[in-house]
Amino acid sequence: MHELSLAQNILEIVEQHVPREQSRSVKSIKLRLGEMSGIVSDSLEFCFSAIIAETPMSNALLEIERIPFILACRTCKNSFASQAGVVLCPECGGYDTDVVSGTEMQIVEIELRETEPSQC
Ligand SMILES: [Zn+2]
Repeated sequence: MHELSLAQNILEIVEQHVPREQSRSVKSIKLRLGEMSGIVSDSLEFCFSAIIAETPMSNALLEIERIPFILACRTCKNSFASQAGVVLCPECGGYDTDVVSGTEMQIVEIELRETEPSQC
């Protein structure tokens, strides 16, 4: 399962960035996910919540920002949002296009809860 190994990767990245004693305070993890990344966001969210359930991070939320698939035409310099798999430029009909966005998967922010003052 592709999404499961990705969810594990995300957890590892978060663990590398957040000191162990603060992992309980992880509030949310913001993720940019391209429409053409081939990742099913619902499935990724499901896998992620499943694997963090047994960790101190169990309350963390995965916030997924969907990034549209954008192409740029080399011939007429037009850039356009594309439907899955279609790489033809709607302006000139050219297919000499570069991918601008939509294939990425990156963590952009790890948000921590304000630490409450200790009670003792
Ligand atoms: Zn064009």
